[in-house]
Amino acid sequence: PSAQRKTKKNKNVQVAVRVRPLNSIEKKEGGRKLVKTDRYAKHVNVGPNKAFGPFDYVYDETSTQLELYHEIVAPLINQVLSGYNCTVFAYGQTGTGKTFTMEGAPDDSADHSWETDPQAGIIPRSLQHIFTTLEESGDEDFSVRISYVELYNEELYDLLATGSMTEDSVRLRIFDGRDSTTFINGLSNVAVRNRDEVFALLKRGAERRRTASTAMNMNSSRSHSVFIVTVVCRDKSNEKAEEYLLRTGKLYLVDLAGSESIGRSGATDMRAREAGNINQSLLTLGRVINALTTSAAHIPYRESKLTRILQDSLGGKTITTIIATLSPSTTNAEESVSTLEYAQRAK
Ligand code: ADP
Ligand code: MG
Repeated sequence: PSAQRKTKKNKNVQVAVRVRPLNSIEKKEGGRKLVKTDRYAKHVNVGPNKAFGPFDYVYDETSTQLELYHEIVAPLINQVLSGYNCTVFAYGQTGTGKTFTMEGAPDDSADHSWETDPQAGIIPRSLQHIFTTLEESGDEDFSVRISYVELYNEELYDLLATGSMTEDSVRLRIFDGRDSTTFINGLSNVAVRNRDEVFALLKRGAERRRTASTAMNMNSSRSHSVFIVTVVCRDKSNEKAEEYLLRTGKLYLVDLAGSESIGRSGATDMRAREAGNINQSLLTLGRVINALTTSAAHIPYRESKLTRILQDSLGGKTITTIIATLSPSTTNAEESVSTLEYAQRAK
């Protein structure tokens, strides 16, 4: 059966599973390690009876930020520099390592800078990689721009906006562009010229994310954040052309809202509405990815804002990667199974 699954596999959608270490809360609650991974066969088991896989990549609690970046994301950077769009999602229950995987857990006390921090996640590593590659190419004609949006309750907020942070000032609207693309009106798209500027911007975005969550009473586990890197460079394959051709590639790095069900978190009305919206976007995202892997005729991009804004990076020649994060604990078994089911459906 695994061979059969492989032949069906769509190379443009890749699925990784990452299991974090058992934490002290889980230990205190009497949790034991239930999730077992086989990184070579790429299977994941939850207890003796539930088996999932094969996935494209499987990481256990000993995995490092570096190896994950190196195996999953580094190959995408070449795609982006060649003018393609790529998307990496972190999907999973709150507290399982989505933000750790995407942003990292930077050590501010640091003997090391953010560039050498072993805990740095995909966002800083990608930017560093992009700059290094562009600088090494010796070509000075390139531009790197960054946008950072938060999607909360089906509303979009600009995390790089300057000025005061009120709900209206940062709320954005999506419009349909030509050739079935969409664009976000008024979204900040900030040019960065070097690593220091990137670093400053990342800090600003993170700070803004915290302010926004306070100002809007936002529960950050219930929002999706989308970090967008746009790289424009000269197309060297066409040196003889009279005018330079430009190539644009985009990298979308998405930290999804927690996938836990509302029943478990004891939702009130307000929370239930949020949860409904989250479920809508996560379910639509799952359906879109499923439609892509099965080459379905209709792809339901329009059914959620998340998939609308990601439309030009899902499907076609783009590479979509999902990193499903999970807890290893007996106490979170149900959520881990549901995360693995979601991940399995994407294959
Ligand atoms: P999420 O964004 O999914 O809610 P976080 O990324 O905030 O989860 O992770 C929750 C906690 O677990 C954080 O303190 C984080 O540093 C830690 N953590 C998550 N994944 C790992 C991992 N693979 N190795 C070590 N610590 C981790
Ligand atoms: Mg998080």
